[in-house]
Amino acid sequence: MAKYQAKREIKIPAIKDGTVIDHIPSRITFKIMRLIDPQEYNHTINLALNLNSKKMGKKGIIKLSSRKLTQDEVNKISILAPNATVSIIRDYAVKKKIEVKIPRLIEKIVRCSNPNCITNAEDVRTRFSLVSKEPFSIRCNYCERAMSRDDIKLN
Ligand SMILES: [Zn+2]
Repeated sequence: MAKYQAKREIKIPAIKDGTVIDHIPSRITFKIMRLIDPQEYNHTINLALNLNSKKMGKKGIIKLSSRKLTQDEVNKISILAPNATVSIIRDYAVKKKIEVKIPRLIEKIVRCSNPNCITNAEDVRTRFSLVSKEPFSIRCNYCERAMSRDDIKLN
């Protein structure tokens, strides 16, 4: 049984050094990809979507060779995919897992959906407070607009 399953498993090439983002909901894998800005990046990226996952149904995975994520990028991932896992790979082995955790104060990375908000009119860095993780809700510290995950546009 185990042998049969192993054969049918889809293989995504392992990376020697870099970062693996796993357990991404399939439908937002490209959003995560975009925030990593692949155009600015010369190394190999392996991306797979719609992989079967017992826990999630379908999932996506992104493997970035020779690339570390900034804390800002991990925070963005946490907002879009709070159950994603981020692992640092050294010599084909997981060296460290980065905890993906939605910050209580979300600064700079999310744009306010209220067109009249001061953060959309002036050069003010956005600040949102986390109201609830599930269902996801954050509130703008300036105009008090509440936003769900679907309203979110990242800066
Ligand atoms: Zn606002």
